[in-house]
Amino acid sequence: MRLTVLGKSPSWQDAGGACSGYLISDDETTLLLDCGNGVFGKLREHLDYTELDAVVVSHLHADHFVDLIPYSYALTLSPRQQPVPVAGFPGTDHPARPRLIAPRGARETFRSISGTWGDPGLVEGGFELEEYESESRPSVGSLSLRFALVPHYVEAFAIEVTSTNGGGRLTFGADHRPADEIVAFARGTDLLLIEATLPRPEREGPRGHLTPAEAGEHGSKARVRRLVLTHISDELDEQWAQTEGQKLARQQLQQERQARLREQQSAAEAARSDELEEAARADGQARLAQKEAETRMQLEESAAQELEPACQRAMALFGPMMARGFRNAMRAYATSNGAQDWSCSESEDVIDISFSIGR
Ligand SMILES: [Zn+2]
Repeated sequence: MRLTVLGKSPSWQDAGGACSGYLISDDETTLLLDCGNGVFGKLREHLDYTELDAVVVSHLHADHFVDLIPYSYALTLSPRQQPVPVAGFPGTDHPARPRLIAPRGARETFRSISGTWGDPGLVEGGFELEEYESESRPSVGSLSLRFALVPHYVEAFAIEVTSTNGGGRLTFGADHRPADEIVAFARGTDLLLIEATLPRPEREGPRGHLTPAEAGEHGSKARVRRLVLTHISDELDEQWAQTEGQKLARQQLQQERQARLREQQSAAEAARSDELEEAARADGQARLAQKEAETRMQLEESAAQELEPACQRAMALFGPMMARGFRNAMRAYATSNGAQDWSCSESEDVIDISFSIGR
């Protein structure tokens, strides 16, 4: 996609210049964005006007469309557009009739303008007029279009042109006051053409345009790959405008960088405090486990200490009883079986019993 700036002036054209007009070509397709005063003559320096595929108009202010009048005259009156041979031209049954894609209400505006001299159908006679709205998505050859309403004195549309022929995205902001709409619409675009009309903000009434500094700020907010300031008079110093445009953009980028840095720092701090908390928790758990183990050992020790005398007491109590019971049981068994030689001796922890049973 190739962009040729035919005119970049604000509402009065530069010496030898033209108002809003941007020629976009992409392979076989050529499209003109806006056709302000002086643009038709500039277009003719680059292209046969009968070969243009479409004119797309951003809004109905004179500096964005008024050269549709001479363009329409050329399309209807020029010798080579006639059905009969004229001045060496053979005549044609199919005169060029480029598409004119203009915002809603354009037909009525064009009719009323040329109607003042009795020719209301002039523009519609030259062009194939179609009106668009925000949601419209027309295509012109390999170029597809998208629109977004931007705040201006009249209904105005920013226009996005995307090539379906290998890529490339251009966004034209039209005219607007400082606006988030254009930041959202142009986000990440390859090239943003943005107006930078004013040397300083409007002092009274509603705002409708940007200063170069504001234009730069919008471009950096939208993270566009390339920003072109336009709609600027030759009475303003170009270098001044460029420096202004870069000033706020740089500030904006610096602020964003600092904000990002702060975010990273606080994220790192949060991660560190999470780590510390985790370590403290792990440490606490280890201490708790140790404490539990110590307590368990103490309990076991004290249980053992308590058990030992209990066992000794039990042995002292039950040992002799069990020994006596055993001895009596043996004696009963021996006696009932007619045992001879019964003897029994007891030392401290041994009972020695002997007898014999004759059969
Ligand atoms: Zn305007």
